[in-house]
Amino acid sequence: MARWKGEPMTGIYLDNAATTRTDPRVVEAMTPYFTERFGNAAAQYYEPGRQAQTALEHAREQVAALIGAQPSEIFLTAGATESDNWIIQATALAGKKKHIITSPVEHHAVLEPLEWLKKHSFCDFTLLPVDNAGRVDPDELKKAIRPDTGLVTLMHANNEIGTLMDITALAKVARDAGVPFHTDATQSAGKIALDVAALGVDALSLSAHKFHGPKGIGALYLKKGLRLAPLIHGGGQENKRRAGTSNVPGAVGMGRAAELARAEYIADAPRQAELVETAWAEISKAIPKIHRNGHPSGRIPNILSVCVEGAEGEAILGYLDMSGIQVSSGSACTSGSLDPSHVLLACGVPVELAHGSIRVSLSHETTAADIDALVSAMPKAIARLREMSVTWKG
Ligand code: PLP
Repeated sequence: MARWKGEPMTGIYLDNAATTRTDPRVVEAMTPYFTERFGNAAAQYYEPGRQAQTALEHAREQVAALIGAQPSEIFLTAGATESDNWIIQATALAGKKKHIITSPVEHHAVLEPLEWLKKHSFCDFTLLPVDNAGRVDPDELKKAIRPDTGLVTLMHANNEIGTLMDITALAKVARDAGVPFHTDATQSAGKIALDVAALGVDALSLSAHKFHGPKGIGALYLKKGLRLAPLIHGGGQENKRRAGTSNVPGAVGMGRAAELARAEYIADAPRQAELVETAWAEISKAIPKIHRNGHPSGRIPNILSVCVEGAEGEAILGYLDMSGIQVSSGSACTSGSLDPSHVLLACGVPVELAHGSIRVSLSHETTAADIDALVSAMPKAIARLREMSVTWKG
C-alpha cells in the first residue's frame, strides 16, 4: 500500500468505505488556502477574498464535472450527512407533500432524520421492500407513490454490502409521477463513473472523504429549477441556500480529489473488482460456512461483505487488528450492545448470521499483497474463534 514518505507503518487499511486516506496531492492543493490564501470568500472587496472565491468556483466546476452537472447545481455542505438531512428536512418542512419514500437499507443519515421528522409529525414515510441483494423493485416504488409524496430518496451504492440500485429505472418511475428523486451516492461518487443526466436524478449527495478528499466537506447536487429551502440559515453563502463561512481549503481539496478521481481512481475500478474476486475465491475456499452478501454483479468494485457462521464480526475484527489488518463489521453499537446491521436484516439475513458480518473495502491504494495478507489471516482468526465458541458445531 502506498504510504506517506517516512510515515511509520500503520498496518493494512481495508476500510475505505469508512474513509479514505487524503491523497497527498489533495493536501498539497489545500495547503496554500490555510496559509497565504486564507481570505474569506464573502469578502469580495479585496484580493484575498476574491482569490478564495475564485478557488471556490473552480472547486465547484471540478465537482460538477465528476457527476456531469453544471457548477451552479453544486451546493457545498459539510458532508453527505448534511446533504441527506438538507433535502429530507426541506421537503418535510416545505409544503403539503410531506410523504417521503425510501428503503430500509439506507444509511442512518437518511433513516434517522426521517424517523425524527415523523416522530415530531413533520412527515410520513414509506420503507419499500428490498430483495436479498438490497435492491428496490421499480414496480414497488410505483405502487407506493401517493398524491402527497414529495420526495423519493434511494441510495446508489450500499455502504455495507456494495449493491448498486438501478437508479435510472427507479428515478424514471418518480419522474413519470412528477416526484423529485434524490440519491445518496456517497459510496459511488469518485469510485465509478457517474452522470446525473443518465441516472435521471434531481438531487444527489456526495462526500469528499470517501474519495481521498478531506473530511467535513461534501456536496448536494440540485438540478436546475429544483427549489429547496435552506437547512442552515445565517448568511448569503452558496447562493443563499447554505449559510456559513465557506470552507475554502475543504472545497479546494474536494475539487482536486474529484479531478484525481476522474483522471485516475475510477480507471482503477476493474483492478479492485479483480482483487475482491480473488479475496472471495480464496476466503471461501479456506473457510467453510461463509456467505457473501450483496448482488453478485450489480455492485461497486471495492466492497466485499461476508457473513461467517460461528464467529462474531467484532471478534473477527479484533483478531485481524492484531495481525495489523483493518476492516469493519456491519454491527452498530447502540446503548452499549451490538445490534446486527439493519441492512443485512432487511436483506433477509438471519439475526445470528448477521452478527458474523465483515466488510472489506479497497481503494486504488490497495495492493495484491494487502489482499494476500487478509486471505492468510482470516481463516486463522475464524478457526480460532470457532474453537472457542460454545455454540459452533462445525
Ligand atoms: N451516506 C452513505 C451511504 C455513507 O456511506 C456515509 C458515510 O459513511 C454517509 C452518508 C455520511 O457521510 P459523511 O461522513 O460525509 O457525513
